[in-house]
Amino acid sequence: MTKKVRVRFAPSPTGPLHIGGVRTALFNYLFAKKNGGDFILRIEDTDQNRYVEGAEDYIAASLNWCGIPFDEGIGKDKGFGPYRQSERKHLYKNYADQLIENGMAYYAFDTAEELDAHRKEHEKNGKTFIYNWHNRQKLKNSLSLPPEDVQTRLRAGEDYVIRFKSPQDESLKLKDIVRGEITVDTNILDDKVLFKSDGMPTYHLANIVDDHLMEITHVIRGEEWLPSLALHVLLYRAFGWDSPQFAHLPLILKPTGKGKLSKRDGDKLGFPVFPLEWKDPASGDVSRGYREEGYFPEAVVNFLALLGWNPGTDQEIFSKEELIRAFDLERVHKSGARFDPEKIKWFNHHYLQEKDDNILSAAFGELLQQKGIDTALPLPKIVSLVKERATFIADLWEQTSFFFEAPSSYNEKAVKKQWKEKTADIIKQLIPVLENVTDFSSATTEETVKTWIGENGFGFGQVMPPLRLALVGEMKGPHIFDITEILGKEESIARIRKAIDTLG
Ligand code: GLU
Repeated sequence: MTKKVRVRFAPSPTGPLHIGGVRTALFNYLFAKKNGGDFILRIEDTDQNRYVEGAEDYIAASLNWCGIPFDEGIGKDKGFGPYRQSERKHLYKNYADQLIENGMAYYAFDTAEELDAHRKEHEKNGKTFIYNWHNRQKLKNSLSLPPEDVQTRLRAGEDYVIRFKSPQDESLKLKDIVRGEITVDTNILDDKVLFKSDGMPTYHLANIVDDHLMEITHVIRGEEWLPSLALHVLLYRAFGWDSPQFAHLPLILKPTGKGKLSKRDGDKLGFPVFPLEWKDPASGDVSRGYREEGYFPEAVVNFLALLGWNPGTDQEIFSKEELIRAFDLERVHKSGARFDPEKIKWFNHHYLQEKDDNILSAAFGELLQQKGIDTALPLPKIVSLVKERATFIADLWEQTSFFFEAPSSYNEKAVKKQWKEKTADIIKQLIPVLENVTDFSSATTEETVKTWIGENGFGFGQVMPPLRLALVGEMKGPHIFDITEILGKEESIARIRKAIDTLG
């Protein structure tokens, strides 16, 4: 029987979740759902120095907003919890001890100052200091010191770390679903620290132990963890455990395609790199978020899904259900994925068009309220007339503000071009015609005005552009008689009168 697919997203709460982290979570989620598996959220908070207040809540809120719900995690314990590593602290020591017992790890007593001196010494000679097979016998550890000495130090409570004893002279073959087979020469690996005498495991030990205990079948994470893969596979071997399968997702690159998109790029490049707005608790600095800038979660998810993956067809628009059906790790790219902030706008435009006019006008109504505008005009109708030109809810205001606020001035260029000597006279004659229209619907008004133009021998150009100018203040907006219908007879005529008074 094949094992149930179980994947995890394992962020460290060291700040707001970068948009790349959301992509990692999304790919994990899609893979789990595609394979009828479980998606687990585990908080890797063993590094207390880097812990940031509020980051964990931010991660949960971001996944929630994007519609990437976890099956298991804090508050949803399915028997594999706790899901916060700081609450699993008691577990890790035994595993570190186990590696010491079977000779796969050792105690090291070198102080930070001593290691620093070694590092500097190497640097002076143009070399990099690596703590491993080639020098471990010369350093202060349980492999080089007499056993009694080691016991004395431990009993005395001296600070130590437990290091992994990476093997010598081995050509290690690693498998990655995205990258295929990778060969690593173990001689270049350093003896990574797994555990510290303060009782805390390092990322490497906690990550492997938890993936094992939580029965993770596939580790899907960012490319920045690829250098750790050899150590992780060696740890599984050292414990005698089956290793999960690995898939390392490509880096997300800056819009120029040069270099990794970093947390700081957002402010520099003028677009958000975080799903939600984040206020740094220490500095008070605010980082922009996609939610606050008016993006729909569907657009963000659709955009992120295609960042480093393709369906093998030209299809670009995917609902979440379609993504789940189409997704597979084989189609994840090896090379970096360029982040294109214009493309995410394109998706947002698309999803705005798909939204029901009632839903859009509810959101638009809130925006109007914030502007202190209380209106009886039919918002769904107004929205339906202009939404094609809107990417964000806020764009609806730009397209429609004239409905709510009568023009107080008229576009100068347009006036010069459209408001001629005879205009006021012609438009004045239109007023009684409009007054006589009983059904002020778009179609009836249009027919009436067009007949009147014909009967009087005017040109369309003499009437329609000045009329638009009077109603809107400039030469934009939807069909002119849709505007008069929405404004109503009284308001439309008042605006025409005002234009005549103002423009003469
Ligand atoms: N805690 C690591 C991070 O912050 C997890 C890496 C992994 O998925 O193994 O990204």
